Amino acid sequence: MRTTFVSAAVGMIDALMVLATLWATLWATLWATLWATLLATLLATLLATLWAGESAAADRRLHVVATTTVVADLVRQIGGDRLTVDSLMAAGIDPHSYKATPRDADRLARADLVVASGLHLEGKLADLLERLSRRVPVIAVADAIPAGRLLDAGAGLHDPHVWFDAGLWSLGVPAVAEKLAKLDPPHAEAYREAGRAYAERLVALDGELRESLAEIPLERRVMVTAHDAFRYFGRAYGIEVVGIQGTSTEAEAGLGDLNRLVDLVVTRKLPAVFVETSVSDRNVTALREGARARGHAVALGGRLYSDSLDTPGSGADSLEGALRANVATIIAGLTGEQTSPAPRSK
Ligand SMILES: [Zn+2]
Repeated sequence: MRTTFVSAAVGMIDALMVLATLWATLWATLWATLWATLLATLLATLLATLWAGESAAADRRLHVVATTTVVADLVRQIGGDRLTVDSLMAAGIDPHSYKATPRDADRLARADLVVASGLHLEGKLADLLERLSRRVPVIAVADAIPAGRLLDAGAGLHDPHVWFDAGLWSLGVPAVAEKLAKLDPPHAEAYREAGRAYAERLVALDGELRESLAEIPLERRVMVTAHDAFRYFGRAYGIEVVGIQGTSTEAEAGLGDLNRLVDLVVTRKLPAVFVETSVSDRNVTALREGARARGHAVALGGRLYSDSLDTPGSGADSLEGALRANVATIIAGLTGEQTSPAPRSK
């Protein structure tokens, strides 16, 4: 009887021991699971925060302010969707006479990069851009074009209208692409690649324009325009160009200049003269009246894009589109065919 009691007691103790071990194992597992879950959650949160920070940085696109629509187009061709690009001057605005408003100064100061055309095209913005360059990176497209390829405009200045020679303008593209690559290293190679592709397209366009313009008979290859914006165009594509005003619209045309041009139009029997989208028609109208008074009716050959592109969706909101539109207008005007539909009047 006594033996039975002892063995029963030992059995109970054994059972208790097993239970205790089981209990301890369960607790340990529970704790371990709890800790593991806690740690995993913490780690996941940390990673998610880091990831979000990184993609926010990747989403933060560079903001570029260009002075003119022509320059804004160049920057867009290189940057695509990786940038936001804003043009200080709207379509149809004359850059020679443009004065910055207080809002413009603010827009410029908030930019990550300011891209100008250069060579004093933006004559009245020069001081502002100079002051701005101490705080914001400022570059000019034309600064990358070798001085030996630039045309003289008198008074120690160069003619700023370089974009009318598509091949020459292409030389300004790599420097802008390189600047963007420096400011936005994760996309550096994409900027360089897009810059190369755009420069190649401009060189191809250069050949295309030259070939198209070759159909104008040699003796008719004379373009009279409102201001002297087309000298690079004339040099590149073999057309004699004469502007009623000088290389800047800031210089007034004198009566002597006008009479000299009436002479030219009448004696060479030019079929057409051209107006520009960013310059007043006043002088061209006076020239046509002068020629008519001397018995030569000279047509309005159409409206050329000069220092500004057109509004989005017009087909001439890119330099390539505007140059093609100009060449079509020039060919129609100088071969005496029906003039192409004139773009929006100023
Ligand atoms: Zn101009």
